[in-house]
Amino acid sequence: MGNHRAQRRAPRPAGIVTPRAPGGRRRATPAPKHPLTGLPMVPTVAGAVAVAVAAGGAATAGAGKADAVQQVQSDPASMQAPAFSEFDTLGMGADLDQRQQAISRDSERDALQDAADTRLQSAVESQARQRNAALTNLARSAETQAAKIKKNAWHLPTTGYHLTARFGNSGGLWSHNHTGLDFATATGTPITAVANGVITETGYDGSYGNKTVERLEDGTEIWYAHQSEIDVKPGDRVIGGQQIGHVGSTGNVTGPHVHVEVRPGGGDPVDPYTAMIYHGLQP
Ligand SMILES: [Zn+2]
Repeated sequence: MGNHRAQRRAPRPAGIVTPRAPGGRRRATPAPKHPLTGLPMVPTVAGAVAVAVAAGGAATAGAGKADAVQQVQSDPASMQAPAFSEFDTLGMGADLDQRQQAISRDSERDALQDAADTRLQSAVESQARQRNAALTNLARSAETQAAKIKKNAWHLPTTGYHLTARFGNSGGLWSHNHTGLDFATATGTPITAVANGVITETGYDGSYGNKTVERLEDGTEIWYAHQSEIDVKPGDRVIGGQQIGHVGSTGNVTGPHVHVEVRPGGGDPVDPYTAMIYHGLQP
């Protein structure tokens, strides 16, 4: 901002003739007050412009100039240098055209400067808007994250796996279509709770082998099967991602894996793959 003001008061280019009264002060010595009257310069300039407009006609004092003068008046600080040099040194006999030119030149320059200030102001406001938008986005993403945690985010049940059997697959191993999703990984690999919940059942269950049932907060049952070891007991509260057992090959299997079932409300199983996608996971 300081640079703008400094440039505004820079000396005019050489070659522009500005009459001076004998002994008049030079424009390089701006003063806030009229040297004779001691009054602020603004009314003087406004008066001079009025005279110029009245005497000189429309050639240099059109509507656009009037606007510029208006802007000049609204910014006293910008008045000091030109006001003093132009109007203090112009005597009664000075040529009106020159006076008008001086007024026009200063008015236009100040109008340009004001336009530049307006652009700067716009840029600042634009940056403020962008910053506010960024902050709003940040707050939204934090809310989303908080909502996710509150909603009891799901976790994958094990690591280093590949899927070997999908929900609904049929085959010799099962009397019905496959009721879960099989995550095949090395024996002993930790099995972790899919989400927060309570362990409701553990133990050996025929073709399931070692099985653990967890009831989630929304009533959905998650069944984990074929464990080599079970690390929890009925009544245990677990949180998503907490270790509850180890991958094994107990029950009716051809290799080590954890068989996971998703049973909303403890009823019939649904496709765990779809359920995990729904809960933001990519099995
Ligand atoms: Zn299975």
